[in-house]
Amino acid sequence: MSVYTHLLSPLDLGFTTLPNRVLMGSMHTGLEDDSKHFGRLANYFAERARGGVGLIVTGGFAPNIEGWLSPFGSRLASTRAAQRHRPIVDAVHAEGGRIALQILHAGRYGYHPLTVAPSKIKSPITPFTPRALSSAGVERQIRAFVRCAALAREAGYDGVEVMGSEGYFINQFLVEHTNRREDEWGGSFENRMRLPVEIISRIREAVGRDFIIVYRLSILDLIPNGQSWDEVVRMAKAISSAGATILNSGIGWHEARIPTIATSVPRGAFTWVTGKLRRDLRAAGIEIPLCTTNRLNTPEVADAVLAAGDADMVSMARPLLADPDFVRKASQGRAAEINTCIACNQACLDHTFAGKISSCLVNPRACHETELVIEPARRVKKIAVVGAGPAGLAAATTLAERGHSVTLFEADQCIGGQFNLAKKIPGKEEFEETLRYFQGRLVATGVDVRLGQRIGAESLIGIGFDEVILATGVIPRDPRISGQDHPKVCSYLDVLTGKRTVGARVAVVGAGGIGFDVAEFLVHDGPSITLDREAWLREWGVGNPAVARGGVAGVKPQPTPPAREVFLLQRKAGKPGAGLGKTTGWIHRTALKMKRVEMIGDVQYRHIDDTGLHILVGDAPRTLEVDTVVLCTGQEPLRALAAPLQQAGITVHLIGGADVAAELDAKRAIRQATELAARL
Ligand code: FAD
Ligand code: NAP
Ligand code: SF4
Repeated sequence: MSVYTHLLSPLDLGFTTLPNRVLMGSMHTGLEDDSKHFGRLANYFAERARGGVGLIVTGGFAPNIEGWLSPFGSRLASTRAAQRHRPIVDAVHAEGGRIALQILHAGRYGYHPLTVAPSKIKSPITPFTPRALSSAGVERQIRAFVRCAALAREAGYDGVEVMGSEGYFINQFLVEHTNRREDEWGGSFENRMRLPVEIISRIREAVGRDFIIVYRLSILDLIPNGQSWDEVVRMAKAISSAGATILNSGIGWHEARIPTIATSVPRGAFTWVTGKLRRDLRAAGIEIPLCTTNRLNTPEVADAVLAAGDADMVSMARPLLADPDFVRKASQGRAAEINTCIACNQACLDHTFAGKISSCLVNPRACHETELVIEPARRVKKIAVVGAGPAGLAAATTLAERGHSVTLFEADQCIGGQFNLAKKIPGKEEFEETLRYFQGRLVATGVDVRLGQRIGAESLIGIGFDEVILATGVIPRDPRISGQDHPKVCSYLDVLTGKRTVGARVAVVGAGGIGFDVAEFLVHDGPSITLDREAWLREWGVGNPAVARGGVAGVKPQPTPPAREVFLLQRKAGKPGAGLGKTTGWIHRTALKMKRVEMIGDVQYRHIDDTGLHILVGDAPRTLEVDTVVLCTGQEPLRALAAPLQQAGITVHLIGGADVAAELDAKRAIRQATELAARL
């Protein structure tokens, strides 16, 4: 029934056969850090195993305290700790799944004072300087890796993944950037790669032949002093001979300044690198299965990568947060029903960096499976949902799934609310996938959808609903700037809906998420480079690793010239964009810098006239001689319907922007809507 013949074909590993080519990539969810969460972790993985994933890899577990990612974080170093993993492993096996434990030693990326590394060199992304290991210290780390793998076997895992990429401990030995040693663990490449080879061969010896060992190999470091291509190939060969079962791909160190997984990165942007390695290994007669990764979020893309011969497996991590049934839906001809990961990082990676439990913007049940339970309603109610933005869509479909009779009113001719604007921003094309998903859910759950109907309180009262949910969103905030009624002034709505043409020189007032997006929209012309892999690689300066060490040495970014001259302004002092997502803010700032956008903080708006926008920057007056001023000055809730409905005695619920507009995002809108709908 399925068309994804490559993706869904079994993979024979010799001693065992995986049912398909999907590896659920390791994600640190925060549930690993405390065994009190292991019950939740078991449920989370069990749902993914039930959904048909070929091989699950857990979030990283440190093999010892020095290898911690954060103080008292996840660690597997004793038999007692191994026993606590049993419920996780059993839950996955009960669903017919397979699961490997990731061993992650953070090295100098650890966020604690006990960090160790090949040399005493601080990373640019952590505040702690690591202690350089003695030879005996290196030996102790190897033994810790081996003990951790043996304990994983004892706990019942089907294998381990040894994290050798993204700039963590093992990776730090491989390059001179972080390894200045002069003993047998440094100097020549043979010495530098000795550590991972020792780790893999000793793990193989300890765990026996019938245990999966995945090695995550850094194939494109994306840092100037990264590995050369010859070194990558040598490593792959040596790790394969040392006894690894599968080679997974790692792209970019965490300190690299090139985006690797954000939504603006093209789908499958780096699969060609795995393909290049696979061809080199096959030419040398090495048949080890290779797994590729990064921005593979649909079965079409994943299947095409395998069909092209670029890999034997695909690693998908966030797509399985977004939809635990990804594989099952693909195999049952229901790929259109997949809730696609839009690569926003807002509820997964941004949570990890904030020390919060991960979830997913489009699936708030992720990592909350035992808490956010969608059950049939005890009493069926007639419910109106007003507004078909993310909040209204999530509420209406969840309520209908539970058996309620739901009518969804939307003033526009299409569903989506502000997501219809978001998807027009170059690099945010993925947002359309969420609307496609909800469109399917509306039909499947039988919601009565009334498009083009701006419903009023009287009509709602007249129809007679048991309860009304207001998901009517927001209206732009009026900033009351002198001269804002000048014809050159417009709102972000006018620009993004195409109602207004914009001149060659533009001032964007307000540097929140929308101000940044509007600036991005204005500097681009023509098709989005996110849809053109080669153009995107040129823009960011990623080259052929066979020529450029690490894929970047000597390669200059070649951004296409900006379509307009743009100024991006905020009243707050400090650098604009500081409040954007932890893992994506730097990308937005860098992208606009590459387009020569002038970002100005500490601004007071004086007046707008024929000359342009008059401002004070600090105390210094300045006039921006612009043709257009775009207001992106935040939003206010739109909830005029609430009072008359309440006066009529109707139970009213406010969700999304209609509830609170400040710091609103789709993550909060969808989560709040789903939680409410699960309760009613
Ligand atoms: P809305 O999306 O505003 O939907 C409200 C809906 O109600 C509208 O469709 C409106 O037509 C309808 N409506 C109002 N009154 C009535 C009525 N009386 N009758 C019938 N229908 C009515 N968020 C993120 O999390 N990440 C992002 O990257 C991101 N990027 C964005 C980029 C842009 C350019 C914009 C504009 C927004 C972005 N957002 C982003 C914000 C996100 O879109 C909003 O947080 C989210 O849409 C709010 O959802 P909502 O359902 O509360 O409201
Ligand atoms: P916002 O993030 O609150 O930003 C509003 C901007 O307007 C700020 O720069 C603010 O900074 C300025 N401002 C506020 N009041 C003003 C006034 N009276 N006069 C002049 N300037 C004023 O809101 P937004 O940009 O409209 O975004 C709405 C929501 O959508 C955000 O909360 C965001 O989470 C979400 N969103 C997210 C993303 C994303 O990538 N995650 C992208 C787009 C939107 P100053 O007060 O310093 O001037
Ligand atoms: Fe994907 Fe965003 Fe969900 Fe993370 S939060 S899994 S990036 S959709």
